[in-house]
Amino acid sequence: MTWLDLPRDTGYGVTNLPYGVFSVAGDAPRTGVAIGDRVLDVAGVTSDPVHATGSLNAFMAQGVEAWAALRAQLTQWLSDGAHRDRVEPHLVPRDQVTLHLPFEVADYVDFYSSQHHASNLGQLFRPGSPPLTPNWKHLPIGYHGRSGTVQVSGAPVVRPSGQRKAPSEDVPTFGPSRRLDIEAEIGFVVGVPAAGPVPVTDFASHVFGVCVVNDWSARDLQAWEYVPLGPFLGKSFATSVSPWVVPLAALGAARVDPPARDVELLPYLDDTKERWGLDLRLTVSLNGVEVSKPPFRQLYWTAAQQLAHLTVNGASLRTGDLFASGTVSGEGHDERGSLIELAWNGECPISLPDGSTRTFLEDGDTVTISATAPAVDGSRLTLGEVTGRIEPAP
Ligand code: CA
Repeated sequence: MTWLDLPRDTGYGVTNLPYGVFSVAGDAPRTGVAIGDRVLDVAGVTSDPVHATGSLNAFMAQGVEAWAALRAQLTQWLSDGAHRDRVEPHLVPRDQVTLHLPFEVADYVDFYSSQHHASNLGQLFRPGSPPLTPNWKHLPIGYHGRSGTVQVSGAPVVRPSGQRKAPSEDVPTFGPSRRLDIEAEIGFVVGVPAAGPVPVTDFASHVFGVCVVNDWSARDLQAWEYVPLGPFLGKSFATSVSPWVVPLAALGAARVDPPARDVELLPYLDDTKERWGLDLRLTVSLNGVEVSKPPFRQLYWTAAQQLAHLTVNGASLRTGDLFASGTVSGEGHDERGSLIELAWNGECPISLPDGSTRTFLEDGDTVTISATAPAVDGSRLTLGEVTGRIEPAP
């Protein structure tokens, strides 16, 4: 319940309370929480300077108890009408704010944890070989991405140029990517650092929350460069994230068991005591037309296992580290999280209502990925959306 007059399907009810960084009319960016169609100025309503830094990092570093205390305080303020006079002056209409990259990205890691996506890509990139590599079910495969090119939703995406070599060509050529693609993913944002391994059971002590990610991918650059060290320039030009970070504390009703594993896992990846499957539903829209609904709950590896794996060698963890799930693809044709899968490597173009077709992205195309989750009150909460428009290569 809340004294705010919110529709039940707002997605931004008091059970959500996602954090972002906003400014109004060129003011200094500060922390806000989305509630209905407004933003609560957390810096203003709490007078705590940690929320006036223009980034969530300092607050995220404070840890679980501080996160829980503020969430409880905000929930009380927004629920109990006795606090209305105090809180209402700090509410800003959401359509008047500019949303910024909500945290300073420390390191960025991207995984590859959807079995359907990995199988599809295996068939497309390595025809004639088994769709899954022999290691896939034993460890969450990932690579280190480029944190400096993580950008907030709405920032334009400039078509990258690079070396491309189609199978029919003898030598590579240089030029704008001809196979620019999306990857619909969920990102996990680290709050509390660690000097070494983070066990699966410590996941919620380190990870602050989740966002929606579009890992833009130039498939032609990627296909030519990725052997033997993995993705590089085909990925590093841009990664977009949603402006709101939904705290893990809001996702209690979304937790589900991950799919059954059919090999015995090494003990550090055993998650029988701490299962972090999440029933998030993604939607991918191309120029306003829904083209896919990827189901996150089908992911083979959970974020807790990904975090355990990425630190098991002793690599330290920093506040602001971002690790993404990998493309979320379900079994169905309309559940695939990338165009290379949806249009099957160009063989089955996607038809749009304006009569045009797509195999990969064209200049001027806009892609929006959104996600929702069950909320504890039985409604659905939203993770918001990540959007980007393709600008021509310079
Ligand atoms: Ca990816």
